Amino acid sequence: MTLPSKRKADLRRRLTAGADEHRKCAIIGCPCPTTASRGSGLNRLYCRRHEEHHERHGSYLKSSYSAAQLAPYRAAALRTLREYQKDTRVHRARLGIETLYAAAGMPVDAFRLRGLSPEERARAAWARLRQDKVDPLVPLSEWLALSAVIRDDSQPDHRNEFRLVQAGKLIHRLAGGSHRRWERERPGGAVEVIELHRYPASRGRVLRHLGERLDRAAETLEPLLSDLRAAEAPPRQSARKSSQPL
Ligand SMILES: [Zn+2]
Repeated sequence: MTLPSKRKADLRRRLTAGADEHRKCAIIGCPCPTTASRGSGLNRLYCRRHEEHHERHGSYLKSSYSAAQLAPYRAAALRTLREYQKDTRVHRARLGIETLYAAAGMPVDAFRLRGLSPEERARAAWARLRQDKVDPLVPLSEWLALSAVIRDDSQPDHRNEFRLVQAGKLIHRLAGGSHRRWERERPGGAVEVIELHRYPASRGRVLRHLGERLDRAAETLEPLLSDLRAAEAPPRQSARKSSQPL
């Protein structure tokens, strides 16, 4: 049997075997059938709802950290990085982000992301940060803050997948969206203001791409983590573009 036809046969077997099994989702207490047993997908372990949760948060059960959970660590992380700016480890991490900025190509308007691959959408996010002149220490401070939140979480998800997706979400959020605003005259003479806001969907492989790149750039910062504690009084509005959902 040639490889492509073997692959096709495997796929057919997986689809039809799944349809006969009536398997329940692997999450304890979830009564839903797996997507394979419903014939609506290939996942033989999880239902649609848990599969989508994983796409969005990088974990089948744990949800993304909120801006409020991250804020006190964020402020402390940025302060630490600015304090250690001349340190070789911080300098190297900064160069890593500058390289990502430089290699990102032209920024792509969030209205025009449809049809691009996850990798191209990830590059577009780095390009938007460069265009907005976001200090490279800011994405690095997001990485440090996230690492500290996971360390101090009493019920953490320590899998790499969760960490990378969470890191990707922070970059995604930092890169923001695109906004359009124009005026239109109504028949009676009144002027109507029309606004359109588009935020790229924060889910799927684009987050893993962003998270992996950030992780690689920030790996030299690991030793700074041991001294990083949450700031005592979290600022009320420290998150940039905080109205955007995570
Ligand atoms: Zn489920």
